[in-house]
Amino acid sequence: MGRWEVSWGKRNPKGGKAVRRKGGRSKGEVRSYLTGMSKLPVPTILDLAPVDAKARVEAWVKTKSLPRYRAGQILDRLWTRPVRSWTEATELPGVLREELERELRLPELSLETRQDSSDGTRKFLWRLFDGEAIESVLIPSGNRRTLCVSSQSGCALGCVFCATGRMGFRRNLSPFEIAGQAREVALRHPGEAATNVVFMGMGEPLLNWPAVDTALSILNSPAGLGIGARHITVSTVGIIPGMDALAGRPEQFRLAISLHAPTTERRRAIMPIEKKYDLDAVLKAARVFRKRITFEYVLIAGKNDSDRDADQLVKLARSLGALVNLLPLHPGGAPDLAPSSGNRIRGFADRLRNQGVEAVVRRSRGLDISAACGQLRVEVESKKGAGMS
Ligand code: SAH
Ligand code: SF4
Repeated sequence: MGRWEVSWGKRNPKGGKAVRRKGGRSKGEVRSYLTGMSKLPVPTILDLAPVDAKARVEAWVKTKSLPRYRAGQILDRLWTRPVRSWTEATELPGVLREELERELRLPELSLETRQDSSDGTRKFLWRLFDGEAIESVLIPSGNRRTLCVSSQSGCALGCVFCATGRMGFRRNLSPFEIAGQAREVALRHPGEAATNVVFMGMGEPLLNWPAVDTALSILNSPAGLGIGARHITVSTVGIIPGMDALAGRPEQFRLAISLHAPTTERRRAIMPIEKKYDLDAVLKAARVFRKRITFEYVLIAGKNDSDRDADQLVKLARSLGALVNLLPLHPGGAPDLAPSSGNRIRGFADRLRNQGVEAVVRRSRGLDISAACGQLRVEVESKKGAGMS
């Protein structure tokens, strides 16, 4: 039973059939996916939504003629009481642990670099099995610990202010590579497991919907990481088919829209995706979300931070009842752009608030540790002289 077949998700975003593949995981073994260019690792037990993992483990236990309660013990070690490898699951007999190692091996993300900021923020750079690198950031705040996860290696969308956008698209992540970022943090820092997850790391989550769909189930399910849907936020520039798919899920996951400009014309200048999914269409697709949505708005000097921009943003935020997160531009993403001054940021935020819009200026957490999207990878790669394509 070392080789098995599994599907990544229900449908791919183009509406095609589930992508199915066979085979045990071996280093360097990759298959093309969706675009014919991107590559993914062969699925493992940690790539399955909890309900599918349960079926899979129960079937495995049956074929081994083991008592049924073993399935529960095994499942427990996937997400709720995770172990790095089966060897550590000492409640199981040694022979069973060896069989599990051979046949249901647990994948890992290998930690290449960790940076700890003086404000408590931790940043992780994970090296994937094929050499790709992705980032996660753990941001403590009171009783909350928010983990910012990546959904793709690189990003195809080329927003002009974003370090990940500058890398271009490398590949989609698998469900484990996404949800596993939270698993790895919990394994490495017991007692510091994430209470909240935001899809605001590298990549556009709604362009990797099948894997993000499964990762959401893992993060949210009580048999997975058990993080409440209201504590999980998917951030998108507005990929409409993906927004529809997310809205179609019964759980109330939260949606953040990376708006960054209040008109089509302004947005086009900094976000090429506006040509494909324009602002009106994105806002229309956002209306079906039952929970309050958030607009993300990076303030860039002279590009989107005038009083007029603020007034136009007020209209959009009011019409959706959206909360506005104002982010000072992190300079690393865009050497040719300047962050708005502190005064301008305050003026912009006040103008929104004076017109009844709830606006929060996000502190730039972990500025001393390159904690903005794509920063750490760029820094590590450039030190190595590897260069980014
Ligand atoms: N692709 C998705 C999710 C990942 S980006 C999206 O764009 O929503 C997550 C957030 O990081 C976005 O809101 C983006 O605007 C922000 N970001 C990217 N580059 C930044 C920079 N240089 N300074 C501040 N925030 C940045
Ligand atoms: Fe991609 Fe989001 Fe960065 Fe734009 S801001 S390039 S969509 S990761």
